[in-house]
Amino acid sequence: MELDTIAAISTPMGEGAIGIVRITGDKAIPIADRLYKGRRKLGEVESHTINYGHITDPKTGETVEEIMVSVLHGPRTFTKENMIEINCHGGLVAVNRVLQLILNEGARLAEPGEFTKRAFLNGRIDLSQAEGVIDLIRAKTDRAMNVAMSQVEGRLSGQIQKLRQELLETVAHVEVNIDYPEYDAEEVTLGLLKEKAGAVKTEIDRLLQTASQGKILREGLSTVIIGRPNVGKSSLLNSLVHENKAIVTDVPGTTRDVIEEYVNVRGVPLRLLDTAGIRETEDVVERIGVERSRKLVQEAELSLLVVNYNEQLTEEDEKLFAVSKNRDSIIIVNKTDLSREIDMDRVRELAGSRPVITTSLLKDEGIDELEEAIREMFFEGGMESGDLTYVSNSRHIALLNEASRTIDDALSSAEAGMPVDMVQIDITKAWELLGEVIGDSVNESLIDQLFSQFCLGK
Ligand code: GDP
Ligand code: ZN
Repeated sequence: MELDTIAAISTPMGEGAIGIVRITGDKAIPIADRLYKGRRKLGEVESHTINYGHITDPKTGETVEEIMVSVLHGPRTFTKENMIEINCHGGLVAVNRVLQLILNEGARLAEPGEFTKRAFLNGRIDLSQAEGVIDLIRAKTDRAMNVAMSQVEGRLSGQIQKLRQELLETVAHVEVNIDYPEYDAEEVTLGLLKEKAGAVKTEIDRLLQTASQGKILREGLSTVIIGRPNVGKSSLLNSLVHENKAIVTDVPGTTRDVIEEYVNVRGVPLRLLDTAGIRETEDVVERIGVERSRKLVQEAELSLLVVNYNEQLTEEDEKLFAVSKNRDSIIIVNKTDLSREIDMDRVRELAGSRPVITTSLLKDEGIDELEEAIREMFFEGGMESGDLTYVSNSRHIALLNEASRTIDDALSSAEAGMPVDMVQIDITKAWELLGEVIGDSVNESLIDQLFSQFCLGK
């Protein structure tokens, strides 16, 4: 396959003082050389060097931009091809002008994700690593970034390859048993399958268990704040937002009646839903009934129920406890700077196993404890330990689920005394499904669709 030379701006549009234009392909260096004026021709400098010079317009001879340019010879590059990276100092206009000149010299404007696609096509990375790059671009917290990063580094790929290898060995062993019928083939096969394929299934299931955490890290944990009027819901929203680094969301046109606010609470990205309009001014009567709260709680992954330390529990409070009972929720008893009127024993009783945190949002007290409770809720049992592979991509999750089911089928067929080659078909299918995770057997259009999700120039 002959790949043409492509170029794109690879820094965020309009941001930062430096803009980078990247070119990859056979003609990357000659194209850059036609525009570059420096001490030596780029075609003559060593690979992996940074060179100072200027970009000039070959038509007018005019100097367009002062630049630093990296010359990178394949295959030790991101795409495995020859690459040029031009660092421009000027703003958006200058960067665009440099790109335009490059295109005039015969490079094609890269499609979104095409650099990464090329790295994949040239065998530099596999599909799950490429998907990791997509996630990396979208990562909303440092922790989500780490998950994406480990995927880029090939951690998931490595595990999948290991599992595929084990399935292959299983098939091979079963094959041997068929060829030597003097063994009690059925018996031996069943034992083998249970041991080897069973172990693979266990491992796949373990990976799947990380999926919900992975999804949360990617998409944020949808969180609602409920409680009677005046207990401190708006204050809670505000302190969570102000205490924590707000995460900039790139989701355009967020629905009008639901304002979303992303905050990073100790590595847990909360997607705070201001559904109740708790941001509205206090002279608007703020009231969401118990029924509405029930719906909100059911749709959210985490609910924060606020009650007032300074008042006795009301019937409405009790109903709200019930509404959030079987969901992930945390009880916040607010206004501890005032006198206690609430029955704390009753609060604990209603809370059951849910954490109860006391706060004075007015005095900034108790926020740390609340944040710790949120963190514990989602990263208990060492989930956060850095060496765990998270599965967070929905395509991977679907494939792993199917592979796990297929192995199950194989095991029960073997158990039921089905012919060995039937069992082998299932094992082979599971092997293929795992292959799809790393892009071994996926079709062209899936690949195109995946890579089009990238930002331009990545
Ligand atoms: P919401 O109606 O549930 O959203 O409650 P707000 O957050 O708007 O708070 C209602 C009132 O309680 C406001 O006047 C807040 O300043 C006040 N408030 C919130 N938290 C505390 C607190 O911890 N202590 C005290 N004394 N007042 C608070
Ligand atoms: Zn409010």
